Amino acid sequence: MATIIIDDCINCGACEDECPNGAISMGEEIFVIDPDLCTECVGHHGEQMCALACPPEACVQDPGRLETEETLFTRAQKIHPDRSLTLTAETSHFRAKAS
Ligand code: SF4
Ligand code: SF4
Repeated sequence: MATIIIDDCINCGACEDECPNGAISMGEEIFVIDPDLCTECVGHHGEQMCALACPPEACVQDPGRLETEETLFTRAQKIHPDRSLTLTAETSHFRAKAS
């Protein structure tokens, strides 16, 4: 699943700099996530950093966009072709939950 920002967002901006993919920006009314850039932080962090940073817990999973770890990791590699990304408990919440 990609992550989305719900109406509870208070526009504090805390999430924006936490995203390893630059997926978060100010939208028309609240901050928004570009689903084509969101990897649920797979490839970088074992948790979704925006959700971790968000005071009102407005960064949540989008139940309408189910995605596998493989899909998300492939996206991360395309976004960062110059970096050697890995899949471990520290870089994938799929594995962090399993361990
Ligand atoms: S889950 Fe990670 S990759 Fe997706 S928007 Fe949040 S910080 Fe960015
Ligand atoms: S951290 Fe949460 S409340 Fe702050 S801008 Fe991001 S989504 Fe909105």
